[in-house]
Amino acid sequence: MIYYAQYFFERLMLMHACDVLKRQVAYEIQLVGSYCTFNSFALWKAKAEGKHRFFGWLFLQEKIQTADNLLLKGIECDPVCCLCDQDFETTVHLCLQCYFAQEIWVLVRAWTEMAHQCATTRSSS
Ligand SMILES: [Zn+2]
Repeated sequence: MIYYAQYFFERLMLMHACDVLKRQVAYEIQLVGSYCTFNSFALWKAKAEGKHRFFGWLFLQEKIQTADNLLLKGIECDPVCCLCDQDFETTVHLCLQCYFAQEIWVLVRAWTEMAHQCATTRSSS
């Protein structure tokens, strides 16, 4: 009799563990895509001003106040990029794909390469 009681107790515990596991998996499935899985440790440790790190954190989550996000919040605005007037204003478009953004990134690259060359020239002389 004790053997059967122990058997049923173990079965009951196993069923409970499976039920908890199912609920945990269902909960995690609901959250897929709803939060950023990017490891932001490097971003928060970057040698930059706090406001720049915060903007980067918002950018990675596509939460900056672009037209698409404002429209999702019910705020009426022009959905087209006001810089190029060619495409929808989204985070990726405004910061990476827009012609004006690409021009800025070219200038930033030239500036950082020039700064790097100056630093290496000073250290070698
Ligand atoms: Zn644009």
